[in-house]
Formats: sequence, C-alpha cells, structure tokens
Amino acid sequence: MLTKYIFITGGVASSLGKGIISASMGKLLQARGYRITIQKFDPYINIDPGTLNPYEHGECYVTADGMETDLDLGHYERFTGIETTRQNSVTTGRIYLSVIERERRGDYLGKTIQVVPHITDEIKRRIIREEGTFDFVITEIGGTIGDIESQPFLEAIRQLRWELGADRALNIHLTYVPYLAAAGELKTKPTQTSVKQLQGLGIQPEVLVLRSEHELSNELRAKVAHFCNVDAEAVIQSQDLESIYEVPVNMQRQGLDAICLKKMGVPVGETPQLGPWRTFLERRKQASKTVEIGLVGKYDLQDAYKSILESLAHAGIYNDYKVKTTFINSENLTRENIAERLLPMAGIVICPGFGGRGTEGKILAAEYARTHDIPAFGICLGMQMMVIEFARNVLGMADANSSEMDPATTHPVIDIMEEQKNVTDKGGTMRLGAYECQLTPGSLASNAYGEKQLIRERHRHRYEYNNAFRKVLEAGGMKCAGINPAANLVEIVEVPALRWYLGTQFHPEYTSTVLHPHPLFMSFVRACIQNKVYKNGSPQAPDC
Ligand code: GLN
Repeated sequence: MLTKYIFITGGVASSLGKGIISASMGKLLQARGYRITIQKFDPYINIDPGTLNPYEHGECYVTADGMETDLDLGHYERFTGIETTRQNSVTTGRIYLSVIERERRGDYLGKTIQVVPHITDEIKRRIIREEGTFDFVITEIGGTIGDIESQPFLEAIRQLRWELGADRALNIHLTYVPYLAAAGELKTKPTQTSVKQLQGLGIQPEVLVLRSEHELSNELRAKVAHFCNVDAEAVIQSQDLESIYEVPVNMQRQGLDAICLKKMGVPVGETPQLGPWRTFLERRKQASKTVEIGLVGKYDLQDAYKSILESLAHAGIYNDYKVKTTFINSENLTRENIAERLLPMAGIVICPGFGGRGTEGKILAAEYARTHDIPAFGICLGMQMMVIEFARNVLGMADANSSEMDPATTHPVIDIMEEQKNVTDKGGTMRLGAYECQLTPGSLASNAYGEKQLIRERHRHRYEYNNAFRKVLEAGGMKCAGINPAANLVEIVEVPALRWYLGTQFHPEYTSTVLHPHPLFMSFVRACIQNKVYKNGSPQAPDC
C-alpha cells in the first residue's frame, strides 16, 4: 500500500486536544496492523522548544535520538509505544533554517526564495520524507487555523491533497462547540466559521471532531454536517472524559478510524479489540484507593511536568491505585513549613529544572525525606539536589553545591561536564537523548529493572555528578547504582539504608507508556503505597 497521509488541524481555540486525537488515531490504525508514525509541525520560529520556558510551552520532551521536542510527542509515544525521532518534530524555524542554508550554498541557482514554493516545498518534503516506510503518516499541525504563522503549513497540505489525491490524503479538523449557559444551548457557529476559513484556504475537511463539555445530539451533528459539506457520520464528538486514555476507545466507538479508512478506499475489516488497552482502562476504573505523591518543583503548571504525571499515573494503575499528585512549590518551602507540607505525602518526586530558583527548597525536601525515610525519587536536577543535600548534611561540606548554582563553591559535588565547558550556544547543545547505563547488581535500581544489567535512558543536562567526590559519598552511604560505561558518568544514586531513596541523572518519565509502565516508577509508587499503609497503622513495617 502506498503511504497515506492524515492531517490534523484545529480551529476555534487552542488546547482542544489535537495531540490526543492524533495519538488516538495512531493507536487505532496501529491496532489494525498498520505501520504508522505521527509527526508534529509547530508554526513558531524557535528551532525547537528546548530554549522555551515551560511557562510558554510546557514540558520539553526528549526523543531517544536527542531532539528536544513538543510535549505532544510524549502522547504519541505513550499511546502507541513507537519511538519517535527528530524527524517527528518540526518547527517553522527548522524549515526556514534549512531553506536559508540551502540558499547560502547556492542550491537554488539564482532563484528568488519565496514562501510559495520554497517554504511549502520544504514542508512537503518533510511530511513525505518517509514515504514507503509507513502505511499511514499522521501529521498534526500545531496552533489554530487563522494564525498568521500556520498559513504555509495549510498551503502545503492543500497542495499535497491535490497532488496525492483523495485516497492518499485526508483532513481531520478539530473544533470546539461551546455551551452558552444563559441560552442553555450548544453553539455550532464557531465550528461553521472555522470550517469556512479552512475551505477558503482550499481545504475541505473530510472529518470533523467536535470538542465539547456536553453530549451533542444527532440533530446538532446533522446540522454541522449540512453546513460544512461533511457526512453526518463523519461528525464525531469528543466529549470531556475522565481520562485521556479513554479517547481512543471513544473514537473507535464512533468509527473515527473506520470512516477515515473508508474515505481513503481501504477495506475496513474487523474492529480491533484493543484488549490490553481496555484492561488498563478497566484497572483504572477498579482502582478505588488513592496514594498521594508530592511533586516538589518550581513550576506550578501541570504541563511543565507532563511526562512525570503520566508516568506516576501509569505506575499507580498497574499497582491498582490512583495517584493523586500534589504540587509543592519548592520556592516556598522553609524549615518551618516543610513537615506540614510533606506530612500528607506517601512519597515525593524532586523534579528536574534549570537555574537556582527553588533549589534550596528542593534540598530541604531531600533532607526531610532522607531523615524521615519518606520514599523520594529525584529526577535529573532532583537527583543533583539529593547529592548536594547528602554532601552538606551527612558529609559536613557546608557549601556543597552544583557549579550551575554556585560557581565559586569549594565542594562542586555536581559540576559542568567536561565536553560542555566550551559550549556557548544554548540551543540543542546539552547532553541529549538515550545513553547506556550499567546497573550495580543487588541495588534498588537493578531490582526495579528486574535484574537487567544494561539499560538505556534519555538525558537532558549539562551538569553531572562529580566523580572526585564519589569515594566520600559512597563511604557516607550514598551509593552509585548505575554508571554510563563509556563515559564513567554516575547515572543513578541511592541510599540503601533507607526504604526508597533514589535519584537518576536521566529522565525515566520519557519512556513510560500505557502498556509498559516504567520499572522505576512502578517500584517507587509501590514503595509509596507501602509507606502509606505503614503510616496508616499497618502492624508490619513495609518491606520494599
Ligand atoms: N540543570 C541541570 C543540568 O543541566 C539539570 C537539568 C534537568 O533537570 N533536566 O544538569
């Protein structure tokens, strides 16, 4: 079968869940045995989101091949289990950069470089570059139609649809149907206007997905179909659901995948069972108990820690618990309030981050967890804070710090990596992507990974555990449980005297998926549950 292309656009408002619809579509086609990939085109001008503040853009997701990307790629991986690459995330900045580089090389032979055809050609080239590798390529266009910067992408889609034909290219448009409480009515006008706008650009959507907080009647769907030149069965509703993981099942129930296949002339065949996926949803429903985990970080914004939240949720469900995550702003933590803030928590995650803001609070949280034997999981900067705290309070190195926060410290237990010393550019220059890590036999980490010896995890950092302090740290009781064999970098630390106190330099949260929860999160959440049971008066001390 020649590769087919599905384009997902959005109108009316942002944050309607295009990423979840794209991921669900990928999941449903994959369940039918098709080879799929999902790519995201973001219309902003940054080369990648690596330099963007999480307040602007949420979490920066890192692919195994070391690209800093949009958080939607996390959804794609969590839903489909596929490993995305740097080809799956493209911004306007990258498109222009490659066109301009080619222009400087003289590749255009004296031509005037224009948005059409040069920029649109480059967009098209990137959409179809893996022609033949996949049965379906799903392309999500970031932003909302009508945005000035989306125009070249929409023009590229229009051209591709014309060139490929109706059986190889299809557009799904996602819109919002607001409910006006005063009128007691759901309003379809914004959807009609948004579709008209798309039609004005030469794109006729085949399928509409209407996001709403209320159930949409058949009558309303028929009306939208009538106004928008779309079949009534191709007007799908995407109502708010309890969990994003319900979306594929909801879409399948309404035949989203079957409709798309039909429209592209592919035999529809039997509806896949989605067995393991449904088992996950069932377990989620059955999980009646809750364990509360504190997220110690500086961004009071869910999207900044998206993958960590999802990883905790996955691990919770496979341990038959719902995880309630409570954000604890590390900037506001003090010796006076720490006990009260951490008291309800069965465990804490000390979050990743950059820069000094909120780091002393993270160190305080690490100290409290260590001295009260509360399960604690430090990730990247969180792990670095655990090491600093240990050096200061157990080894007596009062000014221990990371040279990121205090370049003048006499105890740089976390230091800039050798290869980073001469790096001046900020974009895409950290230690990024998947590297191997050799686990120490018998360690908590090695136990969690099921006695595996060699693992691969993704990274995003400039500073590292300073091996000059390794001997004293280990002698004091903080052990290295994982080392990068090529560079001898310490990747995991743990304190075996405690029940669950572990930090990783890498980001395990990037690889937890719905069907394969991450072993470290599984082990950590299990320890939190045991701690909760213990705190609630279990006769036996937990054994983890
Ligand atoms: N700022 C730290 C470093 O660059 C940690 C980075 C992170 O948490 N992702 O090493």
